[in-house]
Amino acid sequence: MGFRYLLLAAAIWVGYLIVRHLLRQRLTKPKPTSPQKSVDSVQCKYCGLHLPKEEAIQDGEDHFCSIEHRDATRKQR
Ligand SMILES: [Zn+2]
Repeated sequence: MGFRYLLLAAAIWVGYLIVRHLLRQRLTKPKPTSPQKSVDSVQCKYCGLHLPKEEAIQDGEDHFCSIEHRDATRKQR
């Protein structure tokens, strides 16, 4: 008879751990907006490098990682 109660107690304990785990997961849920997306990043038209918009060289609608790449794209035209 004692073994049955032990099994029941173990089942309750496991159930308690699962519920606690689920509750903790819900509490530590990450925010919907990630910090990376808040930074406005652009892509260099010449080499494809991603960089923050404020660090990029802008030429009309296009963005470049450096003046060299902007000039290189201009020479191709
Ligand atoms: Zn580049």
